[in-house]
Amino acid sequence: MRKFIAPLFFLVFSPLLAAAQNSAPEALPIVDTIPAARDVAWPGVITESVDATDVTRAIFHITETIPVAEAGPLTLLYAKWLPGNHSPSGQIPELAGLKFSADGKSLPWRRDPVDVFAFHLEVPKGASSIEAQFEFLAPTDTTQGRIVTTPDMLNLQWIAVTLFPAGYYVRQIKMEASLKLPEGWKAATALEVAGNEGATIHFKQVSLDTLVDSPVFAGANVRVETLAPGVRLNIVADQPEQLAATEEQLQSHRNLVTQAVKLFGAQHYDHYDFLLALSDRQGGIGLEHHRSSEDGVTGNYFTEWKDNSSRRDLLPHEYTHSWNGKYRRPADLWTPDFRTPMQDSLLWVYEGQTQFWGYVLAARSGLLSNEETLGALANIAAHLDTDSGRKWRPLTDTTDDPIISQRRPKGWRSWQRSEDYYNEGLLIWLDADSLIRELSKAPAPWMILRAPSLG
Ligand SMILES: [Zn+2]
Repeated sequence: MRKFIAPLFFLVFSPLLAAAQNSAPEALPIVDTIPAARDVAWPGVITESVDATDVTRAIFHITETIPVAEAGPLTLLYAKWLPGNHSPSGQIPELAGLKFSADGKSLPWRRDPVDVFAFHLEVPKGASSIEAQFEFLAPTDTTQGRIVTTPDMLNLQWIAVTLFPAGYYVRQIKMEASLKLPEGWKAATALEVAGNEGATIHFKQVSLDTLVDSPVFAGANVRVETLAPGVRLNIVADQPEQLAATEEQLQSHRNLVTQAVKLFGAQHYDHYDFLLALSDRQGGIGLEHHRSSEDGVTGNYFTEWKDNSSRRDLLPHEYTHSWNGKYRRPADLWTPDFRTPMQDSLLWVYEGQTQFWGYVLAARSGLLSNEETLGALANIAAHLDTDSGRKWRPLTDTTDDPIISQRRPKGWRSWQRSEDYYNEGLLIWLDADSLIRELSKAPAPWMILRAPSLG
């Protein structure tokens, strides 16, 4: 019997003993198999067709044909780091229904285990292209994100509907895009049109960085006004009567262009389209691009003009970004492929100075009165005076807030601070402007607003 007791004892207690003797877990190395972006051309032109007719369900159907030069592994990316958002806020949860094929045969795919914005597949021998089919399930409720389709309008951002090959600077990937809209709708975009085929618009070939920088507003109710040669105001509205901008209102928008050209001494674009949505259903927006801006305000922007002064620095702000932010960008913010992390250290220049010139141009154009502008500046200063978070968090640290908070609501806004590089940044540039004027004996800083002598 004794012979049995010892092995039984060991058998029962051995797991505990073994646990005591085990070493701690060791970390597996992170293996990055996604090729780094190189400044070389992707061979061939990717064609992308987006069917945006399903506006009631807010589903965009996408087909891409990606030419391939050789068999072997191929990694496709979905944008993670979004220009203008300055953060890893790519809408990957909304990508669905993904299918790949070559010569009609379905191809298996695997999401990268480390970077969930990347998809791996194998190009079969003899294939000259890969077809990708997928959907972008745009938010159907504000709890999921910004609403971008309604029964009367849509806002297409190509960055949300495009897969592209890893390993290349996006400026080196050529794209030919087309967009199918609901019957009778009109589109506005900085993209140039190659031709129309029924309700489908074919755009001229552009590089991928230009495509994603050229969103589309479209709708049933559209009005287009030329503000200056090469500069258009494209208005899309929930209802046709909301398009009724008065001559005086339009003149302020024309003045905006005239004043910006005087201010900057140049136009940093070959043409420019303001994309202005007047809607109480589509989500508001202010997003800069080099040749356009996405500007979303409430439906009564023109029809109840007097009550809507608070959003009238929007267009001047986004327009200024064509230069400060797009034509010129902080070196650590510029990245080649929407995958490399952006660094936001200079947003006090990118956004702070743009905020400053936005108000100056709003006043000079007449979009805001001098009094409204000075009131807005005073409001900013008063807020910052009582912003308790300034005691622990320096302005420069707030430039990382887009990455840290991604604009989620905050419980203790004043103590946590937020994207204060906008308005505290504005005050730095107001101070710089005042100093330059003082030392050069130029008119006092408040004269930077709409003064007849400055035109
Ligand atoms: Zn901005």
